[in-house]
Amino acid sequence: MEFIDLKSQYLDLKESIDARIHDVLNHGQYIMGPEVKELEEKLASYVGVKHAVSCANGTDALSLALMAMGVAKGDAVFVPTFTFFASAEAVALSGATPVFVDAHPDTFNMCPDDLEHRIKSVLDEGELCPKVVMTVDLFGLPADYEKIQAVASKYKLLTLEDAAQGLGGNISGKRAGSFGDIATTSFFPAKPLGCYGDGGAIFTDDDGYAELIRSYRIHGKGEDKYDNVRVGVNSRLDTIQAAILLEKLNVFDDELSRRNDVSRIYSEHLAEKAIKSPFVPDGYYSSWAQYTIMADNRDELQRSLAKKGIPTAIYYKKCMHEQSAFSNLKVYGTQLSVAEELSRKALSLPMHPYLSECRAAEIVNELG
Ligand SMILES: *Cc1c(COP(=O)(O)O)cnc(C)c1O
Repeated sequence: MEFIDLKSQYLDLKESIDARIHDVLNHGQYIMGPEVKELEEKLASYVGVKHAVSCANGTDALSLALMAMGVAKGDAVFVPTFTFFASAEAVALSGATPVFVDAHPDTFNMCPDDLEHRIKSVLDEGELCPKVVMTVDLFGLPADYEKIQAVASKYKLLTLEDAAQGLGGNISGKRAGSFGDIATTSFFPAKPLGCYGDGGAIFTDDDGYAELIRSYRIHGKGEDKYDNVRVGVNSRLDTIQAAILLEKLNVFDDELSRRNDVSRIYSEHLAEKAIKSPFVPDGYYSSWAQYTIMADNRDELQRSLAKKGIPTAIYYKKCMHEQSAFSNLKVYGTQLSVAEELSRKALSLPMHPYLSECRAAEIVNELG
């Protein structure tokens, strides 16, 4: 059994993906070829925003967004402490200071009340200038945008949505990737919409941000890449990866509904065993990047599942404020105790669109 079964997906789509790759090999425009523009247009319309700009990976996507927002040294960027390292890493790389926010115990996403508590704490200390709230749609579930955006506008902060795991999810039909002033995603192979290498994208309705990001991703280009009007980076999506993504985007909604079928089976069987399943608020649709349960005996459970041939993963064993790379950073406000508990108990079960319903049932049966 695979934790994420990319092989079955490829076998299903082999003919169309192979043909698309061959198109690129035949026309030879490996960098910024026509498939890149076609993908950007389709992604923008899928997400429901004016601009989608592709780039080399999801971490660069965050960096490019922060560059466009003009984030720099002395700024505070509020970021969940329970997330993948890249979210906070991009903040630190920009020169700004990541300020860690605790998780909500039900959704595992950024807690809006805790966000306000951290903002007040930064304002009280007076060392940093609050600038951006970076939300993460953790495990595929969109963050609580209604409440978070209310807090952000109260303190006049920008919002940046890290939808690396969330692409494909929505709240009452409004899709992940459309919530922040800028949003980003990743096409790392294991993400809900993955390519066969690294890739990422940035989404925005703002013409000014889109223009800046298109410039920053190609050496701060002006008229062309030999007219350089600012210092940027080299962060483009390969044409071959765009071609692969175009084919995968065609089946993405079907795959999302299969992921939701698997999650329903998991949750039904977990209920029979009185184990709590992940909480999805009314009106929310998850892309189920991960299906994550909380277990007091997590490490023991993981070992016993492994013995039975069931692969699991731990996202995330360490919160951001516990990482040695961030040992120089201080925690503003109270302890981040919800996130710390999640990091001790979280266990993610196999999740992909090609997992059969009986396999899913079997997995839960092995949970004891
Ligand atoms: C994967 C991921 C990223 C980074 O994406 P890459 O394409 O691997 O650079 C950023 N944030 C979150 C929450 C992620 O899960």
